[in-house]
Amino acid sequence: MIPRRRFLRQLATCSLGWGLGACASGRYLRASGSGGRVVIVGGGYGGATAARYLKRMNPDLTVTLIEPQDAYLSCPGSNETIAGLGDGEALVRSYDWLQQELDIRKVTAKVARLERSRRQVVLQDGAEVPYDRLVLSPGIDFRWDAIEGYDEAASRIAPHAWKAGPQTALLARQIRSMPDGGLVLITAPPNPYRCPPGPYERASLIACYLKKHKPRSKVLILDAKTRFSKQPAFEQAWRELYGDMVEWISSEKQGRLERVDAAARTVETEFDTFRADVLNVIPPQKAGLLADQSGLTDSSGWCPVDPLSFASVYDPAVHVIGDACQPGPMPKSAFSANSQAKVCAAAIVASLAGEPPAEPLLINHCYSFVASDQAISITGVYGYSPDERQLTIRSSGETPPHGDRRQEANHARAWQRSFRKDVFGY
Ligand SMILES: Cc1cc2nc3c(=O)[nH]c(=O)nc-3n(C[C@H](O)[C@H](O)[C@H](O)COP(=O)(O)OP(=O)(O)OC[C@H]3O[C@@H](n4cnc5c(N)ncnc54)[C@H](O)[C@@H]3O)c2cc1C
Repeated sequence: MIPRRRFLRQLATCSLGWGLGACASGRYLRASGSGGRVVIVGGGYGGATAARYLKRMNPDLTVTLIEPQDAYLSCPGSNETIAGLGDGEALVRSYDWLQQELDIRKVTAKVARLERSRRQVVLQDGAEVPYDRLVLSPGIDFRWDAIEGYDEAASRIAPHAWKAGPQTALLARQIRSMPDGGLVLITAPPNPYRCPPGPYERASLIACYLKKHKPRSKVLILDAKTRFSKQPAFEQAWRELYGDMVEWISSEKQGRLERVDAAARTVETEFDTFRADVLNVIPPQKAGLLADQSGLTDSSGWCPVDPLSFASVYDPAVHVIGDACQPGPMPKSAFSANSQAKVCAAAIVASLAGEPPAEPLLINHCYSFVASDQAISITGVYGYSPDERQLTIRSSGETPPHGDRRQEANHARAWQRSFRKDVFGY
């Protein structure tokens, strides 16, 4: 029988709905005392969660988190900032709590390369950090060669705003200064990419701003896909809230996106040319550069992993989590990164104690705001399939077109607060 106090602690963790696999293993509650050095590269939602839960599952581990930024800037919530909504301050999270409360060592530096054969992480200044296990959560990078005319320099004129920070601020300024009657053009990338419903949430929230401040304007989404996440609920919300202000054009209708001229703010597809007042190009994506340069990606550009432990199929001492990995059909989201980090942490603690990983069950639950006070959501539960050696979807659901969007917005706000606390401790 599980003692009552321990049971309540276990329940408190499981009831958050995250990392069921780790809960199922029961290893949260067993500090192995085996020690070992775990280095984590990337202090985003994946990396910071892994650091916290590794230390929580085994306080004897030496956990080092390497991240170039002093504080993390969150993408979830950034679409609201672009539309002049939400609390921008809440999107910034420091690493102080993780360092002070959990004794996690934070190294503020960029990793230049991995010396996998010697199990060393090499920083940009040449310093080396040794590891027994490495967790890599470097997020995404862009395929700058995928769209003619759209490179890093062009993104400083026509922002992608798909990494939070100066790009988010630039897009927000452009929306603020565009004329009434103008066109905001968003290009949505092909799958897979960070945050599948993100472009459509962005279109909704920009429309929410325009309806109030520049009501003769339009938002046009040129999509590289023929359908998108939560489509029925998004389209219903657009009809009800914005009339014909938001228009979505599928790749079936316009064909390939062929060329971008950022200075002229034009986009050419196979069949047409569009001129925008604000141009937001969200380019095709791949795993963060470090993963690519370290030989951990396959021809898809993403990192194949063993979903039982998130160990790279190319190196069992290196685990890849978050947007950079591709464990079957899990979407690339902060929620997924957080679930994966917990499963990965439990597997590392087990492996350092000479035990096999437990079979995981992971969740993704993703909210999208369609107006300042209305949201929709989608959920997936993912289990391990031994035949496919992959995660497969066990069950899923989403807000129906006529769901209670105000209620969902309340849940979304509560989730944002508790999620940031789960990752960064406050
Ligand atoms: C507009 C937008 C809205 C979104 N909304 C949601 C949402 O509502 N819900 C949700 O679940 N998800 C949402 N997402 C997705 C979410 O932001 C990502 O899925 C999540 O951040 C992935 O976490 P990660 O740890 O893989 O990467 P990141 O959070 O990007 O963290 C990667 C970290 O690695 C660091 N790094 C990279 N290279 C190096 C290196 N060489 N050395 C050291 N450090 C390095 C970076 O500095 C960065 O801090 C949204 C995304 C966008 C763009």
